[in-house]
Amino acid sequence: MNTFNGLRVVVIDDDPHGVQLVSQALAEHRDLKIFAFTDIDSATAAPPTHAADVILLDYDLSTPELQGLGKLQAGLEASLPIIVLTDDEDIDCFRRAIKAGAQDCLCKNGLDGKQLIRCIHNTLERQELQQQLRRAALTDSLTGLLNRDALFVEISNRLKPHAPLEPFSILFLDIDDFKLVNDSHGHDFGDRFLIEFVRRVQNCLRDADIFARFGGDEFVVVLPRASSDKTVLSIADTIRREFEIPIVVDGNPVFAGVSLGYTTASVTHRDTSQLLREADTALFAAKARGKSRCVKFDCEMRDAAIETLNFERSLWQAAENSELELHYQPLVNIADGRITGFETLVRWWHSGNLISPLKFIPIAERTGAIHRIGAWILQSACKQLSSWASSNSQISLSINVSPVQFEQAAFADIVLATIAQYELEPQRITIELTESGAIKDFGRTVEMLAILREKGVRISIDDFGTGHSSLSQLHRLPVDEVKIDRSFIQHIESPDDYSTLFVETIHLLASRIGLDIIAEGIETPGQRQVLLDCGYRRGQGYLFARPLTVVEATDLLDANRSFDTCGTV
Ligand code: C2E
Ligand code: MG
Ligand code: MG
Repeated sequence: MNTFNGLRVVVIDDDPHGVQLVSQALAEHRDLKIFAFTDIDSATAAPPTHAADVILLDYDLSTPELQGLGKLQAGLEASLPIIVLTDDEDIDCFRRAIKAGAQDCLCKNGLDGKQLIRCIHNTLERQELQQQLRRAALTDSLTGLLNRDALFVEISNRLKPHAPLEPFSILFLDIDDFKLVNDSHGHDFGDRFLIEFVRRVQNCLRDADIFARFGGDEFVVVLPRASSDKTVLSIADTIRREFEIPIVVDGNPVFAGVSLGYTTASVTHRDTSQLLREADTALFAAKARGKSRCVKFDCEMRDAAIETLNFERSLWQAAENSELELHYQPLVNIADGRITGFETLVRWWHSGNLISPLKFIPIAERTGAIHRIGAWILQSACKQLSSWASSNSQISLSINVSPVQFEQAAFADIVLATIAQYELEPQRITIELTESGAIKDFGRTVEMLAILREKGVRISIDDFGTGHSSLSQLHRLPVDEVKIDRSFIQHIESPDDYSTLFVETIHLLASRIGLDIIAEGIETPGQRQVLLDCGYRRGQGYLFARPLTVVEATDLLDANRSFDTCGTV
């Protein structure tokens, strides 16, 4: 804080007596220097004013608008505390001065040194406090960088209308897979990782560059005077290379890739949000193209981003708009061709096309729409089973469930309530856990699966053998069944492939630990025969039937027929 040592005071007064009055009042204070000016224009034009600590402005407060104060503030490079000295004694005038931006206001009549120096002292302290608060409001507390608000101000100042545009670029940075760092090492570790990340990026920047934390693991650099792709790409490249060496926290080395997107301000840009959005869109494109790279924004990206947004928005409303449809693929006893149940597979009618779940389920998982979609699937599947159950009491239904759905605290309760609502036997429902490698909270998922299983709902691991952790999950998850992925079935007829050995071994393993096993994607009579020889009894695939509409599935059930060895009914 300023201790009044070497205090520089600027006095603006057109009356030499006024200046004299101040000089006399402050005469005792030898560590203080006074610079006097007769008017605001000459004061703001002079260097001592800009280096001053405080300004004493003689001012006629009876002027209605107090424009002089505004003019003085506008003419200064930084905000300096202004104390108004006036002949006026009306308290209302004092209030107006403060409102107009003065720090304090003193009456010249009877002005004494002690009063003036106390006023200056208080003003400076208040100014310091205000600056501290302002700094805190504009700074990110973890990294000490500017925060998002401050970044907006910085960019907006560069886009001032009517001012010529100084060229600059906006670089958006994001740490690849930072979530993994946080999830696997904890948030403290993540914080220290971020601090080191920031230090390294700072090493690559020039003094004039502005570095801000946008939020989480997203950062923005404003690059003044960098309008050529060459300059921006070279800075981006330097940043990327900084991270070829791992960041070490607590002795743990972590490799952090950085993706970057940028846009360059032009005269058409008058909106800070637009610039940031463009750089962010380019960053998104960098991620989509394989991460750890830098991509420049172009208009086609914006169109693609808008299309993605519209797609995501429609997906949110797909269930409400009755655009979802369940298809049913028969699950068959491959020995005698009897239908034992169906797997429900969702489809989405969007803009006249039937969209595959492979395309929209991952998006629904990312955006959270999976919770609504999953709830609709569960309701519709249970309702359908209840309508079939009257004539086919043995039919069961397998429902695909994304691991993301287990993040919903009440998920198990919702499943059980829906089963109860349709008066179904829980044993007739199998929950197929898709992509079980992506389970976030393993403990909670296990808990929910155990609750469901205890009530009789069957649990199946889908696409078994594809995830690298499939085997380890077998003994960690409470399961009843595995569905061996169709990629293994595809090749079991070729003699020099390991698939048959794998299919055989998995069957052996499953039967040893008491699990049911289903073969997915059986397409030929030959594959069916190999599976039978390996001991398989249940399967599904195009050999028997593709996923069917509800009408087709109902007809098939009503016909009460079995598939023959060639898969025909
Ligand atoms: P999945 O659960 O493994 O479903 C089997 C997929 O294999 C289905 O694709 C099915 O049409 C296809 N299929 C079945 N038999 C054959 C065959 O003989 N040959 C070939 N080439 N393919 C066969 P679909 O319906 O496109 O579903 C793809 C994936 O989308 C599903 O794989 C599942 O992971 C996910 N999915 C489908 N419906 C839902 C759902 O309701 N909820 C969730 N969370 N995921 C779903
Ligand atoms: Mg499945
Ligand atoms: Mg599968």
